[in-house]
Amino acid sequence: MKEVFLLVRPYYGVNIHTDAQGEYGTVLHSNDVFPDLPLINAATILNQSEDHDVIVLDAYAENKMLPDTLLKTIASMSCDKIVIKTTAASVRSDIELVRRIKMSSPDSYVIVSGQVVSDLEDWLKANSAADQIVTEPLDKYIYRYVNHRNGTVNDMPTPDYSLVNYRAYTDDNGRVRLTIQASRSCPMHCTYCPYTKYYGAYESRDVDKVMEDIRSLVSLGAEIIQFRDQFFTCDKEKVKQICQKMIDEGIKVSWICETKINSIDEELAKLMKKAGLILVCFGVESGNKEILETYNSNKGDIDTQKRIVKMLKDKGILTMAFYIIGFPEDTWETVHATYRCAEEIDSDIVAFNEYTTFYFDGKENIDPGIFRPFENSTNVDTDCNLSRDEIRYAIDLISAMYTANHDCLEKSYTFNHKIMSEYRKNIAMIAGCVEDLQLMSDRLRQIR
Ligand code: SF4
Repeated sequence: MKEVFLLVRPYYGVNIHTDAQGEYGTVLHSNDVFPDLPLINAATILNQSEDHDVIVLDAYAENKMLPDTLLKTIASMSCDKIVIKTTAASVRSDIELVRRIKMSSPDSYVIVSGQVVSDLEDWLKANSAADQIVTEPLDKYIYRYVNHRNGTVNDMPTPDYSLVNYRAYTDDNGRVRLTIQASRSCPMHCTYCPYTKYYGAYESRDVDKVMEDIRSLVSLGAEIIQFRDQFFTCDKEKVKQICQKMIDEGIKVSWICETKINSIDEELAKLMKKAGLILVCFGVESGNKEILETYNSNKGDIDTQKRIVKMLKDKGILTMAFYIIGFPEDTWETVHATYRCAEEIDSDIVAFNEYTTFYFDGKENIDPGIFRPFENSTNVDTDCNLSRDEIRYAIDLISAMYTANHDCLEKSYTFNHKIMSEYRKNIAMIAGCVEDLQLMSDRLRQIR
């Protein structure tokens, strides 16, 4: 008899990119749906094993299935082990989901996974209904469970997206966007990085395997492939080989990567563009050098980043820059400097994100209350120059200013005010019932 796993990614009415931020997850204020690559990898390993079988219940891909329907669906399924993929923003609801599953099926075996559960391990053991807490990336855990040896990103199979309703993984324009990894983690050592905290040392995937991944996604009809590497162009020679093979094989697909932008030179950019690159995402983080040094964040000087953004723009490649607002050291002046830096670098898209730390060293008895429900933020008591209210005001203001300056006031109203207001209204609707999944489902149905 095969052992059957049910892998579940719940949805609670708020769009979360669950494998972002080292699998703490990032709340998105848009409608695009990202797959959870480690979950797909884990499902693929189980599906290919002679001794196991797998069912994937991705609520995001099932028309954003609400929690009460998800619970009924889980109860109707026959399986040996249930894995719940958690995130920081949803962990209180995830824990309640586990409790409800165990309440309706006391004999079920429920595992929780995701970086947040490694912070909460002690609390979960003492207070939750979960039978097992997986504190490492799910695909690595499942790889060892099935193969009885450790695996790296190079041992992962080509992700089998046919195990899920993958056509639901679309970007904001409705294009099917699937993800793969040519590497995992990062050799840089920014001290706030949630990726290196979870993934450890940098791992690389062989070119031939990456090519197999690309072919597989293209054969399924992926319109965009997003490399979920943290530092895609870390190994330039490897990237050149991948691009050259894509060109030689005539693979026609648009793709996106995230990287340290000053690692891209003209020759590489030309090749990547020819191979289908449409967007480069990169972190700038702060316009204040001292703050970057405090966090050992070496993203390169602003002039170089500005020059490379222009070079990419001239080749027709879009750029998206990430900035962090609200470092404990931030003042009104440094926030303004970060805004001026963004204006100078002049990327096509920007994201000003609130600083949040996932490093809880020295903090004892961490409980789920430390993670703010459905926000990209924690309640960690940090000595900050700016209050949270001031930080959020600054983010709203400079995001709107950037859009107004780069596009127009109307777009700024739509993207930075209307969408955000609707999002906050939805959060307010469910904020009081994060642990009452029936009430949450009822309220979410009202706003659908
Ligand atoms: S460059 Fe990015 S991925 Fe690498 S350590 Fe710094 S924050 Fe993490």
